[in-house]
Amino acid sequence: MSNPKKVVKKSSKESVNSQDEQSIQNRSQTSEVGGNYTKYSEKIFANKEELKAFVLPGPNQIEFICKFCEAMYGKEASVLKVKNLRSHVAESDKHEIATPKKYKKDLESLKIKYEKEELARKQNQLKITEKQNQKNFDDARNYLEFLAFTMAENYSFDQISRLGKFLKDMKQRGLSFIERYSFTPQEISKVSSDCFGPFILDKLKEKLEITPYSLSIDSVTVAGENIFALKAKYLEKKLDKDFDEKITSIQNKIIGIQSFKESSKAKDMMEIINNKLFSNEQIQRNLKGIVHECFSPFKR
Ligand SMILES: [Zn+2]
Repeated sequence: MSNPKKVVKKSSKESVNSQDEQSIQNRSQTSEVGGNYTKYSEKIFANKEELKAFVLPGPNQIEFICKFCEAMYGKEASVLKVKNLRSHVAESDKHEIATPKKYKKDLESLKIKYEKEELARKQNQLKITEKQNQKNFDDARNYLEFLAFTMAENYSFDQISRLGKFLKDMKQRGLSFIERYSFTPQEISKVSSDCFGPFILDKLKEKLEITPYSLSIDSVTVAGENIFALKAKYLEKKLDKDFDEKITSIQNKIIGIQSFKESSKAKDMMEIINNKLFSNEQIQRNLKGIVHECFSPFKR
C-alpha cells in the first residue's frame, strides 16, 4: 500500500514493452500479407492493387490461380499455393514471361513492394533476435548476481536452492509485493510479532491444554530496563524416526518477551500470563509451577 504509484509505473512500463513486441510481430505479419499469407483473402491485395489483374481464387482456401500463367501454360500450371504468391510474382521467370507487356510496369512495382516488405521483415526478425539475446544475457547476469549475493551472505547451497525454488513459485503468484514493501528490519519485526507471533502462540496453547507444564521467567537488565522472557516448559513424547519407540524430550517455548521499568511488580507479570496464556481454564489447571531465573548480561 505504501507506494502504489511505483507499482503502477512498473506495470505500465511492462505493458509498453509487450506492446513493442506485439507491434513488431504485427508488422512482420503485415509484411507477409500477400507474400506468405497462407489463406486466400482480401488481405493479400492490401497495398498491392496490381495483383487483382491476374490473381484469382483457387479451388480451395490455400490456393490461387494466376490468370497470366493460365493463359500461357494451361490450367494445371496455374494453380499455386497462396503462401508461394510472393515468390511466384517476385522471383519466377516463368511468371515474368507470361506477364503481358502492358502489365510489365505493374510487375516491376510489385517486385519493389515485395522486396521492401521482405527487407522490413528481416530487420524485424533481427530486432526480435537481438532483444532475445539481450534478455538471455541479462538473465544469466542476474542469476550469477543472485548466486554471488546469497553465497556472500553465507547461505548454504541447500538454502540457496530452496530460496531459488521459492522465488520461482512466487513469480507465478506475482512479485509486485517487492515494490510495495520496504523490507526494513523494523517492518519485518512488526509483521513477525503481529502475524506469526499470535499463530505460534495459538499452536502452543493447544499443546498446553493437554500437557502439564511449568512457566519460567527469565529476566535481564539492560540500561536500567528489565526485559522478561516468559517461557513454557513441558515434556513431549514423539515417535523416533523408525516409528517404533516414543522419545521424551523437554520443550522450552517462548510465550512472550516484555520490557518493564525497574519499579514493575510481579502483578505485571501475572497480567501478561493472564492475557497471553490463560484463555481457558484447562490451560490454567495444567500449570504446575513458576520458576524465576534472574541474570545480568554483564555479571553472573
Ligand atoms: Zn503467374
